[in-house]
Amino acid sequence: MNERLLQAIDDRRDDVVALTADLIRFPTINPPGEAYRPCAEFIGTRLKKRGFETEFIRAEGTPGDTDRYPRVNVVARFDGRSPGACVHFNSHIDVVEAGDGWTVDPFAGVVRDGRVYGRGACDMKGGLAASIIAAEAFMEVYPDFPGAIEVSGTVDEESGGFGGVAHLARLGYFSKPRVDHVIIPEPLNKDRICLGHRGVWWAEIETKGEIAHGSMPFLGDNAVRHMGAVLQAFEDELFPALDRKMTRMPVVPEGARRSTMNINSIHGGQTEDFRPGLPSPNVPDSCRLTIDRRFLLEEDLATVKGEVTGILERLKRERKKFDYEIRDLMEVLPLMTERDAPVVQAVAQGIHAIFDREPDYVISPGTYDQKHIARIGHIYDCIAYGPGILDLAHRPDEWVGIEDMVESAKVMAIGLNVLLRGTTG
Ligand SMILES: [Zn+2]
Repeated sequence: MNERLLQAIDDRRDDVVALTADLIRFPTINPPGEAYRPCAEFIGTRLKKRGFETEFIRAEGTPGDTDRYPRVNVVARFDGRSPGACVHFNSHIDVVEAGDGWTVDPFAGVVRDGRVYGRGACDMKGGLAASIIAAEAFMEVYPDFPGAIEVSGTVDEESGGFGGVAHLARLGYFSKPRVDHVIIPEPLNKDRICLGHRGVWWAEIETKGEIAHGSMPFLGDNAVRHMGAVLQAFEDELFPALDRKMTRMPVVPEGARRSTMNINSIHGGQTEDFRPGLPSPNVPDSCRLTIDRRFLLEEDLATVKGEVTGILERLKRERKKFDYEIRDLMEVLPLMTERDAPVVQAVAQGIHAIFDREPDYVISPGTYDQKHIARIGHIYDCIAYGPGILDLAHRPDEWVGIEDMVESAKVMAIGLNVLLRGTTG
């Protein structure tokens, strides 16, 4: 095992802490997409000093992009002495709002008791900092390495990634021959490798009715009662059926190792806002329901949709005046990188070297930017691996452990060594 490489990372302990704290001080809250440009420039400036070619790519025309809130991404690349594979570290720089319940300033970058606190510390500025430290240490110890290293800081992951990784993937930043292997330092815990995620289908179901005076509902047709029938059928048939579908995907937490569906919202009839006075009584002629269906590698999207439309069609046959529409809002296919893929093997060797154990292989219950890298960029040698503790993401007093960052940076550096130099020593 390479002691010099690990020493170079130990020597950077203060650096990884300072870098994480600096990144937290940019309040890159999404929505609306605050401070993206200065944060991207900060990353670009640092990497440029180390010899990286840096580019800033604004995703004009993507959701939320305005002159006040420009969607600015940074991509930095360092080419080694000779041709070879390219390893790309991709981190999102956006964070969710701080919310209530903090005992420290969420954007001050407080360092205390071996931890760095702040919104985004765990998800995922600590991971970004660890990957930068890993790359810099590797480049110092092996200045003659073949291939290339890329580091990107991208926006809007928390809102779907359309102005971030999806945009860059469309421009070719996440495709061969430019990139071969991708590591996303999302907070999945330092001894686990995240191979992918479950699939997503969001849809809006609308039941139709006929407006009438609320005192004579029999003259109209109540769309909310029709939706009640839909919900009853979901309770009686769909939810129990989904609960029986288990997957071989190692999803964490274990409750997500089966098919799930959430009802995100329901709205029918008049507004709940009674200002400036009481509304007049009506039979609602429309009711809308948004569903969030998470599905498994073993299921295909057509079947997933068919389970819902099958119920709706049956109600149409059996229930008087029942009519509906259904609109797709989002579709993401499930993803699982194989365990013998090069990037999985390389990071597994790193985990083995640092923690003297086999990694846990996990699947995320929700999606992240890997979906765009696979679907648009067609790079399938991709994992999420980073130092943050998953359960701390998006919570008050979010933190990342300093030792966790140092150890995960060592794992990433060994991963680089395996992927670029073909050796752990
Ligand atoms: Zn994240």
